[in-house]
This record gives sequence, C-alpha cells and structure tokens, in this order.
Amino acid sequence: MFAHVPYDDGRCPANAGIITGPEGVTVIDAVATAARARAVRAAVESLGAGPVRRIVHTHHHGGHAHGDGDAFPEATVIAHALTRSEMAGAGPRPTGPCSGAGRGGVRSVLPSVTFEERLTLHSGDRSVELVFCGPAHTTNDVVVWLPGDRVLFAGDVVLAGAAPCTLMGSVEGALRAIGMLRAFGARTVVCGRGPIRDARVLDETEAYLRWVQVVAMRGWQRGLSPAEMAGQAPAGPFSHLGRAERLVGNLRRAYAELDGGPLGRPLEPP
Ligand SMILES: [Zn+2]
Repeated sequence: MFAHVPYDDGRCPANAGIITGPEGVTVIDAVATAARARAVRAAVESLGAGPVRRIVHTHHHGGHAHGDGDAFPEATVIAHALTRSEMAGAGPRPTGPCSGAGRGGVRSVLPSVTFEERLTLHSGDRSVELVFCGPAHTTNDVVVWLPGDRVLFAGDVVLAGAAPCTLMGSVEGALRAIGMLRAFGARTVVCGRGPIRDARVLDETEAYLRWVQVVAMRGWQRGLSPAEMAGQAPAGPFSHLGRAERLVGNLRRAYAELDGGPLGRPLEPP
C-alpha cells in the first residue's frame, strides 16, 4: 500500500492512494488533471502491481475525481451516492475548486458502484473499508480505513499544512467526522493534500474548526459579515497554515449553522 504525494505547485496537488493486491490495484482518488493521473498510473506501473481495477473517490471535487476516464479506463469507479449525483449534476466538465487546474482534456467518469454508509473492499487479505463521514468538507465525504495497516486515507476532511475548507460541507459536521476518524486509532493519516502525517493532524484540524466556531459566534452576535470578521481575527496559532483565506468561507458556513437548518445545506451565492 502506497501514497502518491505530488509536489505542491498550487494546482490541485491532491494525494492518491495505491493499494496493491493479487487481483489488481485499487487507487484512491484519481486526481485533478490528465498529467497528474498519468503520474499516478506510472507509479502503479513502476510497482509491477497489475492493472488498476478499482478507483475510489473520496468526494466529488475535481481535484480528486477528474482523472479516471483516460488514465484508468479498465477500472470500476466507486463512490458515495451523493458523489455520483454531484458529478452528474456538474456535467462533463465538473466544477469545483479545481475546475480550472488545467485538466489537459481529462475525462471524468460517473461512479458505477455507489453506497450510502459503508462498503468493504477486499484486496487479498487486506480489508479496505470505505466509510461515509459527511457532511464535513463536502456533503459526500468518504474516508478509506485500512484496519490491518492502521492507515487512514482521509480525503479533504483532513489537510496537512493547510486550513480546512468547509464552505461546501459543514464545520460542525467536520468536527463530528474528526471524532469518528479518531476512533479508528490510525497510526498514519494520508490527508487529501500535503505530507503524510500521524494522528496528531486530527487534533490540529479539530482545534482549527473549534476556533472557527468561536470566531463565528463573536462575529454573528456583533452583526459583522464573515469577511469583516475574518479581517479582524488574528490567525494566532494557525498562522502557519496555508490557504488562510479559507477562513472567510469557513466563517460563512459557521454563520449558516448558527442560523440553523440542516448541516451541509446549500448556501446562497454570496
Ligand atoms: Zn475537496
């Protein structure tokens, strides 16, 4: 089992997982662009591990779901049911944070196998557990837990070295998801982006999300907009995180949760 961690050039450098087995390879996330997907395929081929039989999408964002059509034509694409509906609604040119990442003509494929809560894949003697934990980063987050290896592929629910992004998901839901992930007892966490970490990255993510809720409560009570509040909030212990501008979107989502309604509900355009 391997993690493919690309150089961060700021153009949707999503991590991918490669799980080898006697019946072929399972890839976790098909990454953003044709070039990146070919790099994952080359990594698979360098292992001599056989064809890619299965791709798991951790969520619908293009940075994780664009690269399957051409680089892995022989694979069955597996995802949460909401991931499929989000991708279907976006049409042949998916939208999302990585829609402009220079896909190089890459073609995404709608998942042909979907599930709601959990699905276990078997790769030789290894169990590969797909677990729904949304809404968190999006409405349709799935993590991949390998209990025998104590390795967790967390998708974008957990990011290493960058601020979490909950605008399309839920701050409160992400906190609940972190609790669920912590219960796995992972020794190694492969985040959606950034270097491989241990379980302390869960604590760091939780601390950031709780800080967002505190800042949001202050701004919401004072009638300040998320942008105004973000301008006043010192990053403090989170100043080392990249993508600090995500605070505005995270506050917007936290404000919506203070207003009430179901977690992860769509927000009006700003
Ligand atoms: Zn994402």
